Amino acid sequence: MALSGLQIQKLLPQTNCKECGSNTCLAFAMKLAAKKADISACPYASDEAQKVLGLANEPPVKSVVLGPDKGLIAGGETVLYRHDKTFVNRTIIAININDTDDKAKIDNTLACIRDYVLDRVGETLTIDMVAVTQLSPDAKAFKELVRNAWQITGKPLILRGKNADAIQEAASYIKGSHSILCAPDDETAAILVPVVKEQEHAIAFTAPDMDSLIELVSKHRENGFHNLLLQLETHSLSEHLQANTIARRSAIKDNFKPMGYPFVHFIDTGNLMDDTTAAITDITKYGSICVLPGYDASQLATLLTLRLNIYTDPQKPIQVEPKVYAIGEPTPDSPVFVTTNFSLTYFIVSGEIENSGISAWLVVPECEGMSVLTAWAAGKFSAGTISKFIKEINLEGRINTRRIVIPGYVSQISGELEDSLPGWRVMVGPEEASDLEGFIKSYIAV
Ligand code: SF4
Repeated sequence: MALSGLQIQKLLPQTNCKECGSNTCLAFAMKLAAKKADISACPYASDEAQKVLGLANEPPVKSVVLGPDKGLIAGGETVLYRHDKTFVNRTIIAININDTDDKAKIDNTLACIRDYVLDRVGETLTIDMVAVTQLSPDAKAFKELVRNAWQITGKPLILRGKNADAIQEAASYIKGSHSILCAPDDETAAILVPVVKEQEHAIAFTAPDMDSLIELVSKHRENGFHNLLLQLETHSLSEHLQANTIARRSAIKDNFKPMGYPFVHFIDTGNLMDDTTAAITDITKYGSICVLPGYDASQLATLLTLRLNIYTDPQKPIQVEPKVYAIGEPTPDSPVFVTTNFSLTYFIVSGEIENSGISAWLVVPECEGMSVLTAWAAGKFSAGTISKFIKEINLEGRINTRRIVIPGYVSQISGELEDSLPGWRVMVGPEEASDLEGFIKSYIAV
């Protein structure tokens, strides 16, 4: 339960010594309540205060740390809607392989998972995890497959099957990977919990209905075990969405602890479009780990791009560094373009210039990550700011070109920009970046 500033103040020493950087304990308490400070900044806080405030500051959905470098985090969410603040840890995307699959297919899938890279707006996106499902009675082959999946991809695994002994043994092959073992029932959960504790893996609990799942989780929570995830057994997409929403709402709005864990969802509808729809539902509505039934590059591109959009902080526009960028191998006589430092705008414009086959300079002034029209309306992309930036980076001392192309949406600044950049000619480019290639071929590369 979140504490108010006044409640927190009562837990502080109340000496107003200022060592935390605030003038009074009350001011520091207000910052703690707003989550703008950490209790560790007060050297005199009692153990009791640290414990209470530490618990109060815990996210309502616990974080589970995965991967050999512990760099992958599931859960840790604090809000129900992205616009309330931000979603924190991106839905983890995993690809499933079955031990009954053809060996050539498995080898190919593992190589694809290892090599898959998608570049989007300056971010390198990859597949996060591999799930290995045991369908065959051959426990030895399952263990070998687990070992291979780990050695080939180096990614943390999700082990799933009905044979607890086989999962237990396979888990020892991948110690240090901080993977997930799925327990299909209470009995298996009882066997696997000591294993995950010893080998530093996490466990995914499941049960036939939500009440049974709550009972199972509560039992292990009482024993102080928290390194767990939840699998909700559902039979349709609508039921899954409803269950995910009820569980997440109870964790965040009602602080209902047994539902405050990340969710894992294995998708396998038998239809690529339906699988994609289910994965989109997970990414947008509370899926922490989404396991796809197989490798499909086009499906991954769609899902990873969507995930990138959902898991950006809506309060912080994604932006690139303000500077002049070399597109291709420009010379001092290459053409000059200007756009804003909103990442999406920069990558689209630079991509279109590159596609046209010319080399050029792309001037990107500081626009606080806004797109062209928004930045112009906010006074961040005006004749004055552009000319000031060009002078600050000494562009005139670095290149001979005195012709600059501005986005068509800000054609109204062309006259003023020419006045503030004596000797320069301002060309009005197209409104849409997609028309840049044609514009360059008609007016620049002639
Ligand atoms: Fe109060 Fe601690 Fe800050 Fe001192 S350091 S003013 S005791 S909160």
